[in-house]
Amino acid sequence: MTDLINLTISEALDKLNKGEISSVDLTRAHIEEMAKGRVLNAYITETPELALEQAKQSDERRRAGRVGLLEGIPVANKDLYCTKGVRTTAASKILSNFVPPYESTVSQKLKDAGSVMLGKLNTDQFAMGGSTLTSYFGATKNPWNLDLVPGGSSGGSAAAVGAGLCMGATGSDTGGSIRQPASFCGVTGIKPTYGRCSRYGIVAFASSLDQAGPMARSVRDCALMLQAMAGYDEKDSTVANVPVPDYTQALSGDIRGKKIGIPKEYRPDGLNPDVAAVWDKGIQFLRDAGAEIVDISLPHTKYALPVYYIVACAEASSNLSRYDGVRYTTRVEGKNLDELYENSRTDGFGDEVVRRILLGTFVLSAGFYDAYYTRAQRVRRLIYNDFVEAFKQVDAILTPAAPTPALSAEALKQMKPVDVYLGDVFTTPASLAGIPGISLPVGLSSNGLPIGLQLLGRHFDESGIFQIADVLEKQANFDKLPRRVKGE
Ligand code: GLN
Repeated sequence: MTDLINLTISEALDKLNKGEISSVDLTRAHIEEMAKGRVLNAYITETPELALEQAKQSDERRRAGRVGLLEGIPVANKDLYCTKGVRTTAASKILSNFVPPYESTVSQKLKDAGSVMLGKLNTDQFAMGGSTLTSYFGATKNPWNLDLVPGGSSGGSAAAVGAGLCMGATGSDTGGSIRQPASFCGVTGIKPTYGRCSRYGIVAFASSLDQAGPMARSVRDCALMLQAMAGYDEKDSTVANVPVPDYTQALSGDIRGKKIGIPKEYRPDGLNPDVAAVWDKGIQFLRDAGAEIVDISLPHTKYALPVYYIVACAEASSNLSRYDGVRYTTRVEGKNLDELYENSRTDGFGDEVVRRILLGTFVLSAGFYDAYYTRAQRVRRLIYNDFVEAFKQVDAILTPAAPTPALSAEALKQMKPVDVYLGDVFTTPASLAGIPGISLPVGLSSNGLPIGLQLLGRHFDESGIFQIADVLEKQANFDKLPRRVKGE
């Protein structure tokens, strides 16, 4: 059984294709592991019966010769993805009883590819945060060390993938929520280009930034999952109508002559020495593989964090106005309708969500709109232009994914919100520019924690970054499995 939970998706598909294992075997092994791994609090809702039923159906399809791209593979969804008939909470109180009558496009596509759903994964509340500490259902723990956070907001996804509680998971990334938890938990995750995947049925945080993406234990597995998840959808007007290439075809193993940019703005004075060392190692790995390393500049990087927090909060304040205590949310009655709204929202939203609604409402208010929101949009364009210029010189950009390895939950609870936001410094620029970014584990800190590096690419060039990431992964030869948590 342990063997089954240690497989990558591609290894498992191979065994399934050869008839050595069934989807029911694979699914059962993961359900057992989920029970042992409950200490991590990675799942908000487990759906073992549903999973076994889906696994049986998958085995039948396989016998009938109908084999999807992820046929029989047990995966799980971040609890931001609406799943028909399965509670979807966004890790909030206000949606704690919400059972969607419809399925998100991306989770439907994963089903259509033959995968099996094990359950719904923990996240920061409405994906606002980088630790899962803002979840109404309690924080997830990091499988490498239970005192540490798994990162966030897709922390449940990262912890579950890292600990073998699913083979792959969906995440979502608005300002780093796939890439930073991937780094903290030693797994791989890609935020695709804005518009690559449909956002239909994914609880919205900041609509000009939100993007769906996969998290798994190898670059190849992420390529397979994204293949199934990506593509045009008439239900989301922001999804691009561009063909989805065959991502695994891109994994040629050869990156000779590729130009990799190293932006000087990502190496501030006082950068964590362990992070700097892994970054240097990554640069050397790519050089050894025949890539050309080019020093570049992304001059507006320092504005990304404030611009992100203005834009994201502004959009969140608008998106979250739909949770009113009347439709599909928890309700706290009041003397009149206004009081009902106020009571329901006060009771249903956590502190971080309230903070962002207040910030967002402020930057959008009359008299401040131009000074904050309009100006932020202008600076966003400069950040975008920095990348456009850089990609005239280089094929991809290599940076750390996060300024530190995983932090302790206790330390984070003592920090001021603004200091917590600094953790998003390396991920928000690519979010604002809408470009794809992958985070993969490349080394360990001096105290044995995973450190991920981020590879950024041109718009819609996920293939290009998969190709380079695959080589980097092989060079780094990172032990894919964090310390197991069984029985702890
Ligand atoms: N940590 C960032 C934030 O709190 C990013 C969140 C995300 O990407 N969903 O906004």
